[in-house]
Amino acid sequence: MLTLKRYRPLLEARAAELRESLARRHGIEIEPSAEEMERTMQAAERDLVSATLDEGHRKLREVEAALVRLDKGKFGECLRCGDQIPERRLDALPWAAFCIGCQEEADRLHRLVRRVPAAA
Ligand SMILES: [Zn+2]
Repeated sequence: MLTLKRYRPLLEARAAELRESLARRHGIEIEPSAEEMERTMQAAERDLVSATLDEGHRKLREVEAALVRLDKGKFGECLRCGDQIPERRLDALPWAAFCIGCQEEADRLHRLVRRVPAAA
């Protein structure tokens, strides 16, 4: 669908923004820690930065995957059920990979997975 091309600049801008913010946070991560900080504090901060980085990387992967789908002419199709994702949803979330029904299902499963404690 030709109109889907209008999402490309949005996705590219978002990808660039994410890459930049990730690059900035990587800078924080490798900065030497202040001496007066307790070790635990440093560890907690590192964890926090890592968690934010993970989130950023995940988002960037989503945006990049959407760009690939755009190239392959698969953009706007739900990855799970193959239905067309409504443009209203794509306007709000151009990197959406699922229709609303499937996204809710994925979120629900994701929450369930998260509740399982990591293996020690
Ligand atoms: Zn779906």
